[in-house]
Amino acid sequence: MSFNSTPIEEIPVIRDALVKGFASGKTKNVQYRKDQLIHLSYLLHENRSRFVESLAIDLKRPALETDFLEIDGTIAEVREAYTNVEKWSKPESPAFSLNWFSMNPKIRKEPKGVVLIIGPFNVPLWCLLGPLAGAIAAGNTVAIKPSEMTPMTADVIAELFPKYLDPEVVRVVKGGIPQTSKLLEYPWGHICYTGSQRVAKIIGVAAAQTLTPVTFELGGKSPVIVDTSADLKLAARRILWGKCANAGQLCVAPDYVLVLREVEEQFIRELQQVYTAFFGSDPAKSDSISRIVSPQHTLRIKNLVESTKGNILIGGQIDVNERYVAPTIVTDVPGDDSLMTDEIFGPVLPIISVDSLNQAIGFINSRDHPLVLYIFSEDKKVKEKVFSSTNSGGAVANDVVILPAAAGLPFGGIGASGFGYTTGKWGFNTFTHFRGTLDVPSWLDKVVLGSRFPPYTDKKLAD
Ligand code: NAD
Repeated sequence: MSFNSTPIEEIPVIRDALVKGFASGKTKNVQYRKDQLIHLSYLLHENRSRFVESLAIDLKRPALETDFLEIDGTIAEVREAYTNVEKWSKPESPAFSLNWFSMNPKIRKEPKGVVLIIGPFNVPLWCLLGPLAGAIAAGNTVAIKPSEMTPMTADVIAELFPKYLDPEVVRVVKGGIPQTSKLLEYPWGHICYTGSQRVAKIIGVAAAQTLTPVTFELGGKSPVIVDTSADLKLAARRILWGKCANAGQLCVAPDYVLVLREVEEQFIRELQQVYTAFFGSDPAKSDSISRIVSPQHTLRIKNLVESTKGNILIGGQIDVNERYVAPTIVTDVPGDDSLMTDEIFGPVLPIISVDSLNQAIGFINSRDHPLVLYIFSEDKKVKEKVFSSTNSGGAVANDVVILPAAAGLPFGGIGASGFGYTTGKWGFNTFTHFRGTLDVPSWLDKVVLGSRFPPYTDKKLAD
């Protein structure tokens, strides 16, 4: 199988099919949406091994990580949408109002129309097909654009979709900048973009030209605070796992650690132990670490590591051609270090020591709002203080990474980490137009509404 981009001239044809599909009205039927969702679920269940294989090639990702980080969560999204779509799509009534109830006020849940979902390379199924579940449940027709950086996975998606889903409801466009740029020429009901902050600005400018609403699922530097009351063994195990899963290429990966000086030494000892337990003495030989997506991305991480002013405690071996970055722990990192500029997006963990919780909070608050903020502490007051005196897309105490999979919770960024939500009912809402409707009886003109008509007499004003 080889990666062939969708020819540019096919894009208008694909869009026309989706416009036709939406205009046919079939996706207004909730049972039809459910049929598509069940087919999406079959696609994932029946081809699990294909995706495991494609990601083993694209990212050399271990099967267990593909199951845990990607396929299980995507299936859960589809299942949640399938189970709840009737409830979610029912019209709602606003709170009772004596003035308005006779006009039968309703909130109808209308699909936004033909929508576009653009995915990243790092979690190419979950970030593309999770939002897709919400878009289908909301009754839209959808163009999906997988990342060209994970070509084997994009190929499998493009091969399987026409076999499982109605081609007037979901279409796959393969390719990179030329294909995305062509897609962005059109007005869409909504664009859901997951990826880097840099490209989000390009997407935002293009969407502004067509007045298309957007959701941005971006990244950034998600910090972890390790408090003096933390269970340090647990913290070391979970943080190192979260940093190294998918070789650090997760939007919700803990980017850096702010550790209270009092417990720094012991925390680092725990990290060293867990490092060996996870990866042995030569992580290059371990089957439990993915590769970086491309030599260019590996080189970017190499440059960051080579220019750090911190102390490389473990790791640091990088092979650009093999796309390999050894899990790396860097201590004594200053706040203005090379590792502290952009999202690292690799298995490199900078550790900064702080004198107090307030200093850690101040450090976080002086930077862009992160996508997720993590605090390891056994002290309720400390956890509450961190949650209430910072802001971030989401926040988790005593674990990392797992937030996007938590059923019922919104997941999305704030400020530079993005805006809008794509999971569960929140995803359904993203792709739904909340349409207020009234049905106004004629007799109201005889009671209250008649006074609005000219002539505007003093008597009407007095009434
Ligand atoms: P990217 O921005 O390079 O690419 C994302 C998509 O944009 C791809 O489909 C790509 O083809 C397209 N694209 C790239 N350049 C373009 C251009 N000039 N014009 C139009 N389209 C273009 O992102 P990536 O490297 O694939 O993903 C990594 C980033 O995504 C990280 O920052 C990560 O934190 C973030 N991310 C966020 C979430 C989340 O849910 N918040 C999830 C996963 C990844």
